Amino acid sequence: MKVFKFGGASVKNAERIHNLGEIVRHETDDLIIVVSAMGKTTNELEVFTQALAGDDCYQGEAFDELYDQVVSCGELQSSRFISAYLQHIGIANQWLDMTAILRTDNHFRAATVDFETTKQLLKHAMQAHPAHVYVAQGFIGGTADGKRTTLGREGSDYTAAILANLTDAESVTLWKDVAGIYSADPRKVKDAVLLTEITYDKAREMAHNGAQIIHPETVSPLIEKNIPLYIRSFIHPEQQGTVIGN
Ligand code: ASP
Ligand code: MG
Repeated sequence: MKVFKFGGASVKNAERIHNLGEIVRHETDDLIIVVSAMGKTTNELEVFTQALAGDDCYQGEAFDELYDQVVSCGELQSSRFISAYLQHIGIANQWLDMTAILRTDNHFRAATVDFETTKQLLKHAMQAHPAHVYVAQGFIGGTADGKRTTLGREGSDYTAAILANLTDAESVTLWKDVAGIYSADPRKVKDAVLLTEITYDKAREMAHNGAQIIHPETVSPLIEKNIPLYIRSFIHPEQQGTVIGN
């Protein structure tokens, strides 16, 4: 089993979803595909939630709860589209409902994952629907009473790492619009070089220092099981990118 995560930019339109299909088609291992909302959908849904809430409930718990119910629709939509598209091009797959599987507390917008319960729920869902390819939502989870929650902005990387940990996956790949991790921002620093290998600690340090390459929590579930994390370009899938590991 491998985990492939496709972020917003990699699923932003029909052409990109077609490209995703080509990457998935060339993979021979079983896959869990974790997807973000298409393009900037999450930003748009945030604005929409504020409009919906109005001035009365602009902040606080009620707003956060409403936010998660609305904003999670971005990932539900993209995962449904991608699952249906893969089916259409002959890649049989099973859609997974993270609201029912990725169990969290009710700390809306910054939910904490219950790994033990999630492990059981995931196992049951996969046993009930055996498949070579699963399509799941990043970023979202659900409480015991079925309310949708989110893990914080850009949380899809973290979802990919959690699912990899719980399934003892061979690797996680984050498909991105960059070739991998660079020594410095290649748009600003002329001599920036692509790093082919870096340690978990270095990756975590870079993420905490604001390098917008991975969500800072991503490496923790991977370290525990020594699962390598690949950062690769969905535009140039033939390139090897960066691997993060021990
Ligand atoms: N769609 C969510 C966001 O834009 C989660 C993610 O992309 O990782 O923050
Ligand atoms: Mg994103």
